[in-house]
Amino acid sequence: MRSTLLDRLVPEGVADLAAYIPPEGGCPVKLDANESPFLLPESVQEKASAAMSGVFMNRYPDPFSRGLRVAFAELCGCDPEHVMAGNGSDELIALLLWTFRKGQNGSLPRILVPSPTFAMYSIGARAAGYDVVQVRLGADMAFQAEDFLEKVEECDPNITFLSNPNNPTGTLVRAGDLERILTASRGLVVIDEAYGDFSMEPSWCARVADYDNLVVLRTLSKVGGAALRCGFMVAGDQIVGEVNKVRQPFNINSVTQAAGEVVLRHFPAVLKQVKTVVAERDRLARVLQDAGIEVFPSRANFLLVRAGGQEEKLWEFLKEGDIVVKFLPRLDVAGDCLRITVGTPGENDLLMARTGLFQEGERL
Ligand code: PMP
Repeated sequence: MRSTLLDRLVPEGVADLAAYIPPEGGCPVKLDANESPFLLPESVQEKASAAMSGVFMNRYPDPFSRGLRVAFAELCGCDPEHVMAGNGSDELIALLLWTFRKGQNGSLPRILVPSPTFAMYSIGARAAGYDVVQVRLGADMAFQAEDFLEKVEECDPNITFLSNPNNPTGTLVRAGDLERILTASRGLVVIDEAYGDFSMEPSWCARVADYDNLVVLRTLSKVGGAALRCGFMVAGDQIVGEVNKVRQPFNINSVTQAAGEVVLRHFPAVLKQVKTVVAERDRLARVLQDAGIEVFPSRANFLLVRAGGQEEKLWEFLKEGDIVVKFLPRLDVAGDCLRITVGTPGENDLLMARTGLFQEGERL
């Protein structure tokens, strides 16, 4: 039974949420969290280890994460003053929600998101007292630009979040549609490029000077640095200035600052691994399709798939074979789906073989 203490003190937006439950036990083939399947390139790992061992553990970290921000700015062609580092981009999403939450004309603040999309936007928004307005993707998981623009006009959101490519569908919003949304919005438009390295599309980081409501998010989590918890926000001076008032001064620990800077300074080596993941993604998509699995076209490091109504059974079957993927029940118009993170070539072979076995069993 819920205590009266909770009833009295916890707002509905938090009470209604469910805590994140990670998959249980060890799993030899882990394809559920969109991480990189590769360790960092050896030479990068060595330099990062050396940098980490030079950290003074007795001192607080640099509150401005200067070295990290300068390295990111040089890589992305933007001004370091327009860059903020976060404890993962999750922290930056929460900070944006916390900062820009003034309701208009007596109503609650609002966020606008496509559906389905990354859950942390609406989880963070509900916890911070927002209304969440969603616009469904099409049956093919394509972004519905006209519907979305209509909602921008209708609900005047404080913040619009667009994961590009989108998690969990892998689909992209066209640059022209993003431009139209940016121009039509009176609130912030956050282009979350967590999977941007896999799409091979130009980043919006260099465009923040063109739009005073544009915010771009990036992260090291998908390219081999998930353990570091290191994300970046790029936006104009005024936005960065406001969020800086709310940010905890020592949000990025010194170990992450040291290692993150090394990773950014050696990014071409990391991008070689990204290329391998992209080639493997396309191979995996072809083989799964040939085995009769429905695969939505993806520009990220994962595939969203359907298995003719047998998704939960396939998920269990893969788990019994020590392969863990993400089961996404009732994913809006798509119904039950699986999201499969691209693994190493060997892991992908195992996944393809076990899926083939499942499909053969289904046909018998
Ligand atoms: N944005 C999107 C779209 C994501 O899928 C994720 C990770 N699942 C994040 C942000 C958060 O990444 P980070 O590890 O940097 O907090």
